[in-house]
Amino acid sequence: MRRQVITGGAIVVISVASAAAYNIVQSRWFHAAGQRSGAPIEAVSAASSGQGAAPREAAERGWEQAGAAEPVTSAQQSATVAPMGAPQPQSAGARPPQAAAQAAMPPAAAKPAIACSNPNAMGVTRVVEIDTAGGPGFGSQHFKTFDFLRDHEVALTFDDGPWPGNTQAVLKALADQCLRATFFPIGKHATYHPEILKQVVAAGHTIGNHTWSHQDLQAVMKKSGQDAAIEEIEKGASAVHMMAGAPTAPFFRFPDLRHPPEMLTYLGGRNIASFSTDIDSFDFKIKKPDELVRSLMGKLNKLGKGIILMHDFQKVTSIALPQILGELQKNGFKVVHMVPKEPLTTLPQFDEAVLKENKLPTLSENKSTDSVVRTISGQ
Ligand SMILES: [Zn+2]
Repeated sequence: MRRQVITGGAIVVISVASAAAYNIVQSRWFHAAGQRSGAPIEAVSAASSGQGAAPREAAERGWEQAGAAEPVTSAQQSATVAPMGAPQPQSAGARPPQAAAQAAMPPAAAKPAIACSNPNAMGVTRVVEIDTAGGPGFGSQHFKTFDFLRDHEVALTFDDGPWPGNTQAVLKALADQCLRATFFPIGKHATYHPEILKQVVAAGHTIGNHTWSHQDLQAVMKKSGQDAAIEEIEKGASAVHMMAGAPTAPFFRFPDLRHPPEMLTYLGGRNIASFSTDIDSFDFKIKKPDELVRSLMGKLNKLGKGIILMHDFQKVTSIALPQILGELQKNGFKVVHMVPKEPLTTLPQFDEAVLKENKLPTLSENKSTDSVVRTISGQ
């Protein structure tokens, strides 16, 4: 089944095939806020294959240290593109009755996936669906294989949340421009602030995983071995999925952008894609919003496109984002939203491990504290 997100742009479907795939039962991906129906897919482009990685300059990253080059699993890529100025019909047999009914409606009756009150908003111009089978890698700082962005296209990504105040400010800036991004939350942070993560879900953004406790997995491997590194990945995946209360994406970003080859192989077997970056904002180092805007736009204008790494955890980013988006618009950049072909499937033993953690919110997490605990005596 092909799915459509109404954006006025186009959908691109990226398929990645690899021999290394575990037989994991996966349910269909239903994007939280996406109203979808079918769209015809025209196969237009073909295969590239490759192996390799680029060195990334070592740099101080505050509590994150920059990583080095790692190999990437080889895979075959094929891309199919469907232009999508308006919802288009497809043979009804390829989708559920509800979607067929939606497609039968005239375009004027189609509702946007997310209401947008700003007629001058940037909006998402293209949605790309990523087939994570075999664990493809994205972001030219480490992975050279799959370069799907066109000139002056960017994909916005935000790490290390959810975090009070900052994440909501990022969400507001994105909503004001009717944009969607990809978030890579930290598992522990998700357990601290599940209500904020649910706001990210409700806004229709894609939710990946950035480990349980943001440890450098190369260091974990060295100190504690492979199982400990796998636990960091899987507990993060389980925690984020559990706290989101909705399907999450098989998208992963390594802390500090350090990619142990063994873990890339592991993610390949789990059909989880790795996302490095094309443009690192270094917003964990730059403390002045104006400086962040200048620095980021300088890098972007030089490169011309790319996956941008920012942090919704960082105050400076939450302040600077409206200005960054304004500059993107002024400079003719278009925002692409990445969604997964299939949702993440978590592993039961790590779901249980997360539940056993101390201080984990209970299943009543959707209730406000005031509705659970009230003062009945004293002040
Ligand atoms: Zn991080």
